[in-house]
Amino acid sequence: MRRVRRGQTGIVSNSRVLFGDYAARWTASVPAPAESFTYATVIEAGRQFPLLGLRLPGPRTVVVTAGFHGDEKSGPLTLLDHAAEIVAYAAARGVGLQIYPCVNPSGFEAHTRYNLSGERPNNDFLRYEISPGVWRGELRTGQAFSEVAPVGGGGPKETVALARQLATGPVPVAALDLHQDNFIHGHWFYAYVFGDLAAYRPLLARSGGLVPVLRSSIVDSGQDPDGDVFADSEGFIVSHDGSITDKFQRDGVTYTAAIETTTETPAPIAAEINLIWIRGFIDLAAAPAPAVAGARPAQETRQNGGIGVNPAPSKEIGEHVRGTE
Ligand SMILES: [Zn+2]
Repeated sequence: MRRVRRGQTGIVSNSRVLFGDYAARWTASVPAPAESFTYATVIEAGRQFPLLGLRLPGPRTVVVTAGFHGDEKSGPLTLLDHAAEIVAYAAARGVGLQIYPCVNPSGFEAHTRYNLSGERPNNDFLRYEISPGVWRGELRTGQAFSEVAPVGGGGPKETVALARQLATGPVPVAALDLHQDNFIHGHWFYAYVFGDLAAYRPLLARSGGLVPVLRSSIVDSGQDPDGDVFADSEGFIVSHDGSITDKFQRDGVTYTAAIETTTETPAPIAAEINLIWIRGFIDLAAAPAPAVAGARPAQETRQNGGIGVNPAPSKEIGEHVRGTE
């Protein structure tokens, strides 16, 4: 098992971006036949933050989300800088798009993981009942549950707004969530996935040509000995963590993943990896769906059977913050 050194948040050169500037550039960047829109407005610290989207009609839709964590800048900036190219790529293949480029705008501007109210928008799409009357936001590996339910109106503002917005549209064929890992030092890549892992292997391999893939490693910061998340021997994680990716697999979305570059990865490389996966997911949506008999189920069990306790200290002292939360 590889040991990964953890420490302070990686330095991001573009850590401070005014959201108003981002929103203006976003609106100006979305080309026809796509259109930009605002699906809700949240109020944080007395200011209004519009929640931005892009839609491109098409019979088979790909959803791309980014910016759940405000200090993970690569996803929102990749989508802003490459909106025209992404729209052209999808339109040429007859694929529709719904892009939500900056899900947590107040956190984005403040460069904080959570929103300015301290709510945690990432892992609150689903709740699992693990024993009668006991509900959890995520499951440990292999943990049984009796019910799973959407969080509904009681979740973080941004999560509630996005869930409502997604409910107005068709169930996508593929859904990709762009993240970064600022817990792990160095340049790395790994991915949370559901469904047929074979679909993702070419994308993982191309990403691995740009930065090393984090394999057979504990990813989560772990004060909870049973709560760690493991990247398997390929660099994949299958985790029922209540995230939008988990929600999409519950909704029956064929291809759904959350990808992670470390924040120390140079921004142009992180952007290129994001684009590899965005184009790849558009390609998957454009291709005929595989026959059910040929699809392999998601791997539900931990691959490495390795060490269950991470001896490295949690980064956020005094509070257990799961890497995905
Ligand atoms: Zn994240």
